[in-house]
Amino acid sequence: MSSHHTTLVWLRRDLRLEDQPALYAAAERGAVVPVFIWNPEEDGAWAPGGASRWWLHFSLAALQTDLEKTGGQLVLRQGDSLETLQALIEETGADAVYWNRLYEPEAIARDTRIKAALTQQGIEARSFNGSLLIEPPEFFNKQGGPWKVFTPFYKAALRDVGIGDPLPAVEALPAPKQWPADVPLETLDLLPRIDWAAGIRATWTPGETGAWEQVERFKEGVAAYKEDRDKPQLMATSRLSPHLHFGEISPRAAITAIQATEDGASNGAQHFVSEMYWREFGHYLLFHFPETTVAPLRPEFEAFPWHDDPEALRAWQRGRTGYPLVDAGMRELWKTGWMHNRVRMVVASFLVKHLLIPWQQGAAWFWDTLVDADLANNTLGWQWTAGCGADAAPYFRVFNPVLQGLKFDPEGEYIARYVPELAALPAKYRHEPWLADDITLRAAGVVLGDTYPHRIVDHGEARDAALAAYQAIKTGGPTS
Ligand SMILES: Cc1cc2nc3c(=O)[nH]c(=O)nc-3n(C[C@H](O)[C@H](O)[C@H](O)COP(=O)(O)OP(=O)(O)OC[C@H]3O[C@@H](n4cnc5c(N)ncnc54)[C@H](O)[C@@H]3O)c2cc1C
Repeated sequence: MSSHHTTLVWLRRDLRLEDQPALYAAAERGAVVPVFIWNPEEDGAWAPGGASRWWLHFSLAALQTDLEKTGGQLVLRQGDSLETLQALIEETGADAVYWNRLYEPEAIARDTRIKAALTQQGIEARSFNGSLLIEPPEFFNKQGGPWKVFTPFYKAALRDVGIGDPLPAVEALPAPKQWPADVPLETLDLLPRIDWAAGIRATWTPGETGAWEQVERFKEGVAAYKEDRDKPQLMATSRLSPHLHFGEISPRAAITAIQATEDGASNGAQHFVSEMYWREFGHYLLFHFPETTVAPLRPEFEAFPWHDDPEALRAWQRGRTGYPLVDAGMRELWKTGWMHNRVRMVVASFLVKHLLIPWQQGAAWFWDTLVDADLANNTLGWQWTAGCGADAAPYFRVFNPVLQGLKFDPEGEYIARYVPELAALPAKYRHEPWLADDITLRAAGVVLGDTYPHRIVDHGEARDAALAAYQAIKTGGPTS
């Protein structure tokens, strides 16, 4: 190691010490100055939402503690990223800046500009892949074009690229001669002024330690993942999504840890790996089709006759549509900052098909309220549900929120948890309280239209309207 070198490690969404390629390479080189620069304006329209900011605050706090254990520190700054890096180069005498790549269009544009500027001034500017299993710019189908269908993408990625071995955690970070000035975490002002985060606090532990706690919990039930992952009343999925988004754990490390368990070769574990590749697919699509954050991937959907309906949007956001599964999901989201995947599909479908509200409005609400809000995964999820994305659910397949509830949450436990005003109903009515007779409703303290709303749309009518709207734009078969 030649200790006269000093490297700035520009941390963004890679807030961890294990399998951290930029930090690892910097530590091999000499002194390391880890820096996080807060400048949400550089994310354009996709600056982190409220729930993400909450998470980021605690993730940075956890990283500060973890870095101190290695002899390092986390330097927090605010301002223009390039100017801040240049100032830090002056202050520390650093001769290199390392970072792990991001794949959002705004981030790519900024990072490319910064790499060119630093290189021009004689600084070694080097980026690494720390967040994906495959590199989107380097992976194409047989015809040489970008993949648009998940299964062949997934198979080729597993076969041709694989998962790879995680790097060990960085244990000792050589310190620079002098630490540059920084700002206290509170200065970033990430926490809400009015504290709405009690439920989120009670549910999550941001940071690398919290991520590994989820892995430990999930290991126990991984064999049943394939059967149980669609049941929203159970804690049967990994709940790694916010940790993966902020890079508190790498996908490589998470998969390797699950595969190393006793049930590591089970159907459950294999299915978990395939879900992790949906994340890869989402990032891949965003890289190759950056306009899809706001525009449908299938251009015929540009002409879709969407409705602007602020009142219905508000009922959906607040979990007051009169459909218990939709309302339970929206309230789970508001309370905990997360929603079960099956229910995300149901609520999203309800917004775009039952209410005919543009998917972009749903995506924006998710963006603000999810602790795992992720531009790639959120765009993929909404375009998939709306039927306008790559390899998407066909638009004409309209989820019935009642049947989905009866199938996946037959006892209505999920409803009882998040829609407590229906909890006293017998299980068979929890997904369709309008079928209960007056005596049953009264005994459960339910007054439809008062203690719990009437349905804001009729499923059958809404379905017909959705299909008619779809007919209006249908132009031949789906694209490949
Ligand atoms: C409308 C809609 C919006 C969504 N928005 C987001 C979002 O903003 N951020 C986000 O991380 N996920 C999003 N998802 C995908 C999915 O719902 C979550 O990743 C998942 O529920 C997270 O829970 P988990 O970590 O327990 O998942 P697990 O089932 O344990 O899966 C493990 C990991 O695989 C990845 N993954 C699983 N399913 C998907 C998927 N369908 N698409 C992409 N990645 C997936 C996630 O990183 C997840 O953490 C969205 C899905 C829909 C239908």
